[in-house]
Amino acid sequence: MKDVDSRGILTTCIHAGKRDNDVYGAMHDPLYLTSNYRLPADGSPVDWSGIHSNIYARNGNVNQFILQDKLAAIEGAESSVVLGSGVSALAAIFLTFLATGDHIICSQVCYSAVGILLRQLLPGKFKIQVSMVDSTDAAAVQAAVRENTRLIHIETPGNPTTGISDIAAIAKIARDCGALLSVDSTFASPLYLKPLALGADLSMHSMTKYINGHGDALGGCISGSRELIDRIKEEAMVNFGGIISPFNAWLITRGLLTLPLRMRQHSENAQAVAEYLEDHPAVRFVAYPGLQSHPQHELARTQMKGFGGMLCFDLKGDSEEHINFLQKLKLIAHAVSLGDTESLMVFTESTSEKMAYYPEIFRQGYYRFSIGLEDTEDIIADLRQALS
Ligand SMILES: *Cc1c(COP(=O)(O)O)cnc(C)c1O
Repeated sequence: MKDVDSRGILTTCIHAGKRDNDVYGAMHDPLYLTSNYRLPADGSPVDWSGIHSNIYARNGNVNQFILQDKLAAIEGAESSVVLGSGVSALAAIFLTFLATGDHIICSQVCYSAVGILLRQLLPGKFKIQVSMVDSTDAAAVQAAVRENTRLIHIETPGNPTTGISDIAAIAKIARDCGALLSVDSTFASPLYLKPLALGADLSMHSMTKYINGHGDALGGCISGSRELIDRIKEEAMVNFGGIISPFNAWLITRGLLTLPLRMRQHSENAQAVAEYLEDHPAVRFVAYPGLQSHPQHELARTQMKGFGGMLCFDLKGDSEEHINFLQKLKLIAHAVSLGDTESLMVFTESTSEKMAYYPEIFRQGYYRFSIGLEDTEDIIADLRQALS
């Protein structure tokens, strides 16, 4: 692995982690499709459930190692672990650092599987105590601290509301009560938010989104100190599974090469689209961290290096008009997920049970919009014709 830490982010995304040791001199690291590796004749020194040598692909595989090294360089972390999905990365954090009787504080605006894990499954099955709070208010996080608080998990920007939580302030709360802080900043990508530099212990992403960026592979990652990441590998990865396939690790490594270029275009497009929507008379509200009107715009400006490609908005009018608008879109696809090359939009109705956790303005219904890499004018033209 080359020493690239002092180089710029474009160079790091391209060169970090590369092995460059292919026997044929291939410019790019091959895809190692193997579930197991040759062992030495004398097996006695082999650590059969270890994570540092090539034994079996669930203990680690070469394409996973390459991707982990690249991510650690991008995150400025000692170490990273990549797993089969964002949710497997989240489950790995919870299963490694929480035990029966422990308490976790989590953002009430969070990815749906996190909501189900923390509101239902972990309390129900393992008697883990959970407080779901508005983490955009650091005082609410402080007020939720208990004697047995072991983990604080926040999502910033929150999915879907784009609410911004103050990582440095919450990191201090975590340090003072002896808990770990993990941050899901999937919406920002590791380019625009560096939770570890702000005092978080773990930085987590769904790689399915911006890190891969091409909408064709699932993955999740966690970065932090070698000690914490090794614990996640030794406990959750090896024993609960959730390992990434070599093929997905290879695809995501390829996606990462262009992350800085993609994020720049996502952000430029999103800023232009947010401003266009905010000025449109048919639009009820727009939530985008890059708008002055966003409640945490100032914090986003200081905490993030860019505002990213995700926004929410809603239209005035009834349910039929909302469906009509979706039907009239030609370029923008009605689909879940985000961070893709394509622009994707999904509508959530006021009847959704998640609404209770979101700010008032969202509760009449909203569109979550992942602004893609198409020409800015083409995205706006599609919105214009659908709104007319
Ligand atoms: C998509 C997403 C996840 C889950 O990731 P998967 O790769 O779908 O398992 C977690 N957090 C956020 C913020 C997400 O957007």
